[in-house]
Amino acid sequence: MKKKLVLATRNRDKIREIKNKLGKDIDILTIDDFDHIPEVIEDGETLEQNAIKKARIIHKYTKLPTIGDDTGLLVDALGGKPGVYSSRFAGENATYDENVDKLLDELKSVSWEQRDAKFITVVAYMDNNSEWTVEGKVEGKIIKQKRGNSGFGYDPVFYYEKLGKTFSEMDIEEKNKISHRAIALKKFVEKYKKIN
Ligand code: IMP
Repeated sequence: MKKKLVLATRNRDKIREIKNKLGKDIDILTIDDFDHIPEVIEDGETLEQNAIKKARIIHKYTKLPTIGDDTGLLVDALGGKPGVYSSRFAGENATYDENVDKLLDELKSVSWEQRDAKFITVVAYMDNNSEWTVEGKVEGKIIKQKRGNSGFGYDPVFYYEKLGKTFSEMDIEEKNKISHRAIALKKFVEKYKKIN
């Protein structure tokens, strides 16, 4: 029987990517599979703090092995912003589009050479005996206009130079080979297999 793993998120886009990557080997549950699950307030100062907080709170409730994923886009020309505030860059409850538009606006007079950025994902794992984190990172550039229809969040403006495409111009399989989340999940699986 497949082992169970709970994803401490309600974000459908993340769930789709994580299930695509891990679902063959692990039985993936989400917060929606449980009643009255507590809300997690993402108020950490780092991605790691937020990922650990999500994993801890949801594990405490479900008692099952759990992972929390926290991701940020770090743009060099903005001194690493939006970073841990990526989901609320344009304000509390901002949409993906509003966040991307604010980013493009802040970068409008920034030259191509200065538009380097990276996505970082921290995955925190917690079960009854252990707690640890892994990190994945991918480098790219922020293009001037949105391109592509796949993915989510900042994907339409995150240009991956090696393939000459934005993340939104990749299908899920392709993004899942090279993305920040894919790299973190690969490290997660390597470590998880050692203890399971
Ligand atoms: P969270 O705090 O980890 O849920 O993610 C913060 C924000 O980062 C999300 O609201 C998205 O806008 C963005 N984000 C997270 N993962 C990705 C991704 O894989 N591609 C593009 N944007 C992402």
